[in-house]
Amino acid sequence: MSVDPLNPFAADPPSSQQPVVLPPPTLKFPQWLTDFTGLKEWPGMDPPYIPLDFINFGVIPTNIPLHGQGQCELLNNGDLSQCSFDCFNCVSFDDVYTCPKLSQTFDDGPSPFTPKLLNNIKPTTRSTFFTLGVQIIRYPEIYRQTVSKGHVMGSHTWSHKFLPGLSNEQIIAQIEWSIWAMNATSGHLPKWFRPPYGGIDNRVRSIIRQFGMQAVLWDFDTFDWKLLDSSNKHTSKDIVNNLKLFREKNGGKGLILEHDAVINTVDVGIEINQQILKNEGQFTVPQCVGGIDYIKKFV
Ligand SMILES: [Zn+2]
Repeated sequence: MSVDPLNPFAADPPSSQQPVVLPPPTLKFPQWLTDFTGLKEWPGMDPPYIPLDFINFGVIPTNIPLHGQGQCELLNNGDLSQCSFDCFNCVSFDDVYTCPKLSQTFDDGPSPFTPKLLNNIKPTTRSTFFTLGVQIIRYPEIYRQTVSKGHVMGSHTWSHKFLPGLSNEQIIAQIEWSIWAMNATSGHLPKWFRPPYGGIDNRVRSIIRQFGMQAVLWDFDTFDWKLLDSSNKHTSKDIVNNLKLFREKNGGKGLILEHDAVINTVDVGIEINQQILKNEGQFTVPQCVGGIDYIKKFV
């Protein structure tokens, strides 16, 4: 993994660089969701917690202090019962963090730039997309287009919050609303979950497991979002070269972290696909571990 000394396990741009102005939702709020929640429209960035009868609060660990991004002094590195990935790169038994074959994963979409990616990656290669609820309800057609090309869709929460700093109820709200947006758009329930900023510890894991999901991390971070700021001196050529070195060193194995929210990162995703994965193909996350694409698909 290429390491940024200031932010060694960075998964995403710092939150100040996230887009905040979003167009209004275009996806209809389904009647079944009104029946269940009593609401009539999609929530904003802080979705309300809706109690679910299958959640058992009794099994959620209580020995892990809430911490904001980078507040690792609040945790105990040696305590594997906490197992923070964002602070200490700790992975749990059911986390997916590498792949027998290179695998591209794209976070933060669907976005207006996703179609360019879909149209330019090799049609025979399938990837995995970790989507945000707030984006899905704005670009449902782009979400469906991604599904129709055979890619696997996973959850990246509702609105991209750093989960280890949230209460159990707030984490559940981030997860349930993201699943409802995916279900309302394409009639499926996700199996694979990517935590924003790689923010996951055993408290967050205990909640996502209750939804039947598993965390998907990475072993190659492209830091593609740094392309947005030229002062980082991080070019798409650097990314492709670093990935080629990683591939040689790692015997062609690896789970690659990318983003499809902006044009620069989409372009480098296409370059990686065309220059590195063109001949050898790639695996989706479920193919990496011999797992299922979705927990359930409704007809
Ligand atoms: Zn993200």
